[in-house]
Amino acid sequence: MKLSNIVAFAQQIAPFETAAEWDNVGLLVGSPEWEVDRVLLALDITPEIVEEAQKKSAGLIVSHHPVIFSPLHTLHPDSTAYRLAKYDIAALCLHTDLDRAEKGVNTALGAALGLKNTTLYPDDFLLVGEPHNPCSAEEYAAFIREKLHAPSVRFTEGKVTRVAVSSGGGGEGVALAATYGFDAFVTGELKHHQYLYAKQHHIAAFDAGHFSTEDVVIVPLKEMFSAAFPTVEFIISEKNVCPYRAV
Ligand SMILES: [Zn+2]
Repeated sequence: MKLSNIVAFAQQIAPFETAAEWDNVGLLVGSPEWEVDRVLLALDITPEIVEEAQKKSAGLIVSHHPVIFSPLHTLHPDSTAYRLAKYDIAALCLHTDLDRAEKGVNTALGAALGLKNTTLYPDDFLLVGEPHNPCSAEEYAAFIREKLHAPSVRFTEGKVTRVAVSSGGGGEGVALAATYGFDAFVTGELKHHQYLYAKQHHIAAFDAGHFSTEDVVIVPLKEMFSAAFPTVEFIISEKNVCPYRAV
């Protein structure tokens, strides 16, 4: 399959021009003219994942986080970008465009948590809905941990009856959740002042970890690509795991 076809399909799922201004998305390494018959999927492209792609003869890695983000001042042979180029492996990165997409990360996060009657607010990187059962923050934290296979979930006390979610580093969305009248907010990273804000505004805020709130998109992404390109093999990387543990 020509890589240009896969890129065109990605553009349909998560139009590149909808990414945040500061972002870097699309085909970041490789040529649209290359032929690809095996594709690796992962949240991040690490040197280990490039090595895995090379061993498995995958000509493309589809990731969420951009493999090239800040300007490259040097290209060390150990670096991910250097390794991709060395092995002629392409990188297609769908980041904030996928966060906001209708079939994107926030939708996948809402589905993983079983939210009902959901509405997507793409401009705010927010999906809102109702929980399967109204409950206490502590009960919901345990539920989130189980559903997202999260190493840990930190939370502020409160009731959970209307939930807003913002995947990954979406902590600043806690203020929007308060403005819109939601009493629960689930994200991947909360800073100290955001916990304080949540407490002051009686929001049950949950920090389930960056990886765990975004990894939920990988299986749906694989299914969408596999359905569109039956002759191409899409494989989730063995190394696509949360980078930390919690005790
Ligand atoms: Zn992220």
